[in-house]
Amino acid sequence: MKPPPFQYHDPKTLAEAVGLLGTLDNAKLLAGGQSLMPMLNMRFVLPDHVIDLNLVEGMAGIKETDGVLEIGAMTRQRELEFSDLVAAKCPLLHQALMHVGHRQTRNRGTIGGSLCHLDPAAELVTVCMAHDATIAVAGPGGTREIAFADFPAGYLTPAIELNEIVTAIRIPVWPAGHKAAFIEFSRRHGDFAIVSAAALLQIDGGRITRASLTIGGVAVAPVRATEVEQAIVGQAPTSELFAKVCESCRSFEAMADIHASAEYRQHLAVVLARRALEKAADLADNAPWNRAH
Ligand SMILES: Cc1cc2nc3c(=O)[nH]c(=O)nc-3n(C[C@H](O)[C@H](O)[C@H](O)COP(=O)(O)OP(=O)(O)OC[C@H]3O[C@@H](n4cnc5c(N)ncnc54)[C@H](O)[C@@H]3O)c2cc1C
Repeated sequence: MKPPPFQYHDPKTLAEAVGLLGTLDNAKLLAGGQSLMPMLNMRFVLPDHVIDLNLVEGMAGIKETDGVLEIGAMTRQRELEFSDLVAAKCPLLHQALMHVGHRQTRNRGTIGGSLCHLDPAAELVTVCMAHDATIAVAGPGGTREIAFADFPAGYLTPAIELNEIVTAIRIPVWPAGHKAAFIEFSRRHGDFAIVSAAALLQIDGGRITRASLTIGGVAVAPVRATEVEQAIVGQAPTSELFAKVCESCRSFEAMADIHASAEYRQHLAVVLARRALEKAADLADNAPWNRAH
C-alpha cells in the first residue's frame, strides 16, 4: 500500500521544526521512518503534513558528561550499536540493541523514534525505564525534561504535547564494574519481544548494593519490579534468592493479545526476571537464552 497524500517539510534547524510543528495542523514528525512509514502505508495515521527531522542539525550524537550519557534523539540505533562509549558506559543499552529489529532497520531507526513510538515491548523503552533516563523536549515555550517513569502516557502514547519534539535522552551511568543483562522472549530473533527483562546490579564485597529490574512487554509500558529490587539489596546473589523473589512478578497487571495471554506474560515475567538477574550476577549457565546472538 502507499501512504495517503501529505505535504512534506524538511526544516534545517530545531527552531524551524518546532515552528512548523506548532503552526501546521495535523502534522507528524518523521525520524527513521521504521514505524511511521508502515503506519502511513497501513493508513493507521493520516497526517496532512510530515516534518522530516533528518536534515535538522545537532539532533544526533553521543557524549558523556558528569556521569550522564547524552544521546541525541536522531542518533541511529546502528550508531549506538557500534559506539565504544555506549558499550563501556551503558552495557545494558548495548545488549538490548542486539535485539532491536534487524541491521537494516537499525541503520535508519533512531532512539528518539523508538521511544516516541513507545511500543510496549520496544527494547530501548525498557532500557530507559531501567536506567531512570530523562527525556529532553523542545516546544514553542522552550525546553523541558521528563523523567522516563512519567514518559509513557498510555498505549503507543508518549507524554509530550503535539507541538513538542524530543531532542535528547539522558541516561545516568552506573559505576564502572556494574553488571547488566538484557534478555527477551520473542517468536523469532529480530521480532519485538513478547516479554523482556533488563537487570542492573552493583555487587560489592559479595553483596548486592544496588539493583534495578524492569520487565517490558507485560503492560502498555515497562514495569519496574521494585519489590524484587528492594528484596535483593543487601543480599548475596544466589539463584535460590532470585527464584524466590521473582515470584512477585506474577502479580503484574498483564495485557493479552494474539501473541500471548495475560497469564503467559505473567509467567514469562517471573522466568525472565530470574534469568536476567542470574545472568547479570554471572550465575547463568550456558543455556541458549544466555548466549549472545
Ligand atoms: C521489520 C521491523 C522490525 C522491527 N523490530 C523491532 C524490534 O524488535 N524492537 C523495536 O524496539 N523496534 C523494532 N522495530 C521498530 C524500529 O525500532 C523503529 O526504528 C522505531 O520504532 C521507530 O524509530 P524511527 O526512528 O524509525 O521513528 P519513526 O518511524 O520515524 O517515528 C516513530 C514515531 O515517533 C515520532 N517521532 C520520531 N522522532 C520524534 C521526535 N524526535 N520527537 C517526537 N516524536 C518523534 C514519529 O512522529 C512517529 O510517530 C522494527 C521495525 C521494522 C520495520
